[in-house]
Amino acid sequence: MEKNETDDEPCEQCGLCCRIFGPGITPTISNVYIWMERGRTDILRWFLAFREDGEPLSCADLGPEDLCSVVTFEMRHPQTGDYVTVCPFLRRVAKQRYLCGIHDVKPEMCWNYQPWIWGETYFNRCPALRAQQKRSRRFD
Ligand code: SF4
Ligand code: SF4
Repeated sequence: MEKNETDDEPCEQCGLCCRIFGPGITPTISNVYIWMERGRTDILRWFLAFREDGEPLSCADLGPEDLCSVVTFEMRHPQTGDYVTVCPFLRRVAKQRYLCGIHDVKPEMCWNYQPWIWGETYFNRCPALRAQQKRSRRFD
């Protein structure tokens, strides 16, 4: 959700969207496949896979061949199986600055998140959106 140094985006890295929506992120099959290929058990263990047949399984216990039977993924605590309240990959790097700890391989929905554009991901509490609205009012 929030940008890193090299992104050309208005995000101010306040971390608010990740704190609010992070626990609800769902990776795509391709995201999970890439994590498997790269041996990212540290990420896989935070997701359960719900399959057409059988009990949900930790993504860390699946192989690429199992992915075709997965219906959906959900973020869950690896030890308790409970829902999480904060995305485990969010890193606080200063008092009011947050970064994504898995930025390079974060889920597609985080890459596509643009709260400053009207649509599905519009988030009116985003400070970058507010700054943009202020700038555009100046030119009205
Ligand atoms: S994976 Fe990264 S960008 Fe996505 S919600 Fe978590 S901290 Fe934010
Ligand atoms: S709420 Fe807006 S400014 Fe804050 S991290 Fe999310 S996108 Fe960036």
